[in-house]
Amino acid sequence: ACFHQIETRDSEIHAYLSTNRERALEQAARIDDLAAKGEPLPILAGVPVGVKDVLTIEGLQATAGSRILEGYRAPYTATAVSKLEAAGAIVLGKLNCDEFAMGSSNENSAYGPVHNPHALDRVPGGSSGGSAAAVAAGMAVATLGTDTGGSIRQPASFCGVVGILPTYGRVSRYGLIAFASSLDRIGPFTASVRDAATVLGVIAGHDPHDATSSPLPVPDYSADIDKGVKGLRLGVPSEYFAEGLEPEVRSAVEHSIDRLRAAGATIKPISLPHTRYAIPTYYIIATAEASANLARFDGVRYGFRAKNSDTLSAMYRRSRDGGFGAEVKRRIMLGTYALSAGYYDAYYKKAQQVRRLLTEDFLKAFTEVDAILTPTAPTPAFKIGEKVDDPVSMYLADIYTVTASLAGICGLSVPCGKSQEGLPIGLQILGKHFDEAMTLRVAQTLE
Ligand code: GLN
Repeated sequence: ACFHQIETRDSEIHAYLSTNRERALEQAARIDDLAAKGEPLPILAGVPVGVKDVLTIEGLQATAGSRILEGYRAPYTATAVSKLEAAGAIVLGKLNCDEFAMGSSNENSAYGPVHNPHALDRVPGGSSGGSAAAVAAGMAVATLGTDTGGSIRQPASFCGVVGILPTYGRVSRYGLIAFASSLDRIGPFTASVRDAATVLGVIAGHDPHDATSSPLPVPDYSADIDKGVKGLRLGVPSEYFAEGLEPEVRSAVEHSIDRLRAAGATIKPISLPHTRYAIPTYYIIATAEASANLARFDGVRYGFRAKNSDTLSAMYRRSRDGGFGAEVKRRIMLGTYALSAGYYDAYYKKAQQVRRLLTEDFLKAFTEVDAILTPTAPTPAFKIGEKVDDPVSMYLADIYTVTASLAGICGLSVPCGKSQEGLPIGLQILGKHFDEAMTLRVAQTLE
């Protein structure tokens, strides 16, 4: 049914960069065999999933949305994907995304934009636009995306689906093509909160292949999901309801807050005073790390290589020039500048100090509240082409998401209403480090 849906809808949505029908049908047949033998079935038996094309699967393409990886086939499988497959999920294919996950609209993919299933002239959000759109259009039951500064939560909000940003370290990054290693996280997109809890439970956990993955045990994320919000303290930060927030988004979010109050939660106004420094801090740290991570794409080891170069250095330069798109080049230059001798203290070191202050804002708030409620994005999905020529206005679309990324805390986006034009609006629920269960419980109350 999902392949049928891909055939009928994906020519206009363009969520998939590749599908692997035979491989998927083989996986499905193995599940059928188990069922026929009366063997116990794993938790995701037969569930069709899609995977953002920044995650590797042995033998399959991994483009990261970039020309520089054209033709590259991965030699091993990302842990999050192996865990899905071990749980019986069936991988349908690889999903479109912004090049190296850099973007907020999916317009930076070298393979063309993704269209929002709710309005084809609109962006699906980014960078995991294909992952969000595939679930919204019924072209997968669950998908994996990645979130470095909002790339799961913001497209989930634009496409009207659930998207989880797990705590940093909760899900192994082994097999994820790195953008900004101290910020990158992998998480699920699904149509319901309960499904999101199930998929998170499968992909979370320690992995000896990723030294930053946490040894903490993985709880049963569905156990407390129906407990409701009675007696919980939910914080509403004034900084997230200021200038730039579209009135329709504000009223949908406020309506959800009212519903949570009516369900027995205590709503507390709070302040996260360093919020206004988050965008510049994020764009210094993310670009600095990206400039280092992307140094490996030299035309020798992976994918695309420029032809007919006279010298080795010309081959490097021409491969990188032809292989990377404009946004990736912009970030390599910004990041290289921020890390260079003479500027390091003024930019990178300062950004790390502000990152600590932003984290402390959250740690302090979480002594008073159990979770924090904000809009996921200041506007519903914008039109394709509307912001492409204005990177700064594109960066501002991340204003409510980059803070949790910098602080390492968890969060999710859950649909909370629609604009007059019928475009989905998302509510962001932020939780303490490793308290995903709390955010799921609050989200479930609204479903
Ligand atoms: N939009 C942000 C950026 O362009 C976040 C991207 C992401 O989370 N991968 O960096």
